[in-house]
Amino acid sequence: MTHKQAAVTRAKLLARLTGLGTVLRGSLLERTTYHSSGCPKCARGEGHPQWVLNVGYPGGKTRQLSLRSEQVPQVRQAIEQYRQVKETLEAISELNQQLLRLDRDEARASKARNTEPGQ
Ligand SMILES: [Zn+2]
Repeated sequence: MTHKQAAVTRAKLLARLTGLGTVLRGSLLERTTYHSSGCPKCARGEGHPQWVLNVGYPGGKTRQLSLRSEQVPQVRQAIEQYRQVKETLEAISELNQQLLRLDRDEARASKARNTEPGQ
């Protein structure tokens, strides 16, 4: 890969970084909650379906946020957005690593040229 190719690829990746304001890290879980008493639905064993945003933190901690069902599509999209942004950032970082290598090797090559005998 040349500098120019890397720059073009990086520009394309950067253009993909849109919608950053709505990202959400975590995963969606559906679980059923039950009232301990006084609820006919729960007494029948049906319970109440509940969507939860589950977010993990270092040290194995997690936070769970219950969602209204109408929030689920939006949250699902925001999680997907986060995943894509993260993937794109990772790709840009890899590219920048290659650019560092290219710079280093070019500097080395030009130094080698300058110290060739007969110059
Ligand atoms: Zn209930």
